[in-house]
Amino acid sequence: MSSIRLRTISDFIHHDILVQVFCRSCGHRQELDPTHLYHLFVKRGWTLHLHSAQRRFRCAKCRTQNAELQAGGLVKKTASER
Ligand SMILES: [Zn+2]
Repeated sequence: MSSIRLRTISDFIHHDILVQVFCRSCGHRQELDPTHLYHLFVKRGWTLHLHSAQRRFRCAKCRTQNAELQAGGLVKKTASER
């Protein structure tokens, strides 16, 4: 797992890894589906690189924009996606 390079949201999709949004202010963590994020970012014309993408996230708990995008758990796929 540690050998996987995650540079863009597309990389998370490729490796079936959830995007974990970690709040550096309060420590709150939230796991998001990378496919949903991908479509959201493309729709809004935002860059998919994590370094830029993490600035878009606001913490659901303390409302600050101080997020870090990390590797979360594995994406659970439904039978139809396999
Ligand atoms: Zn927070």
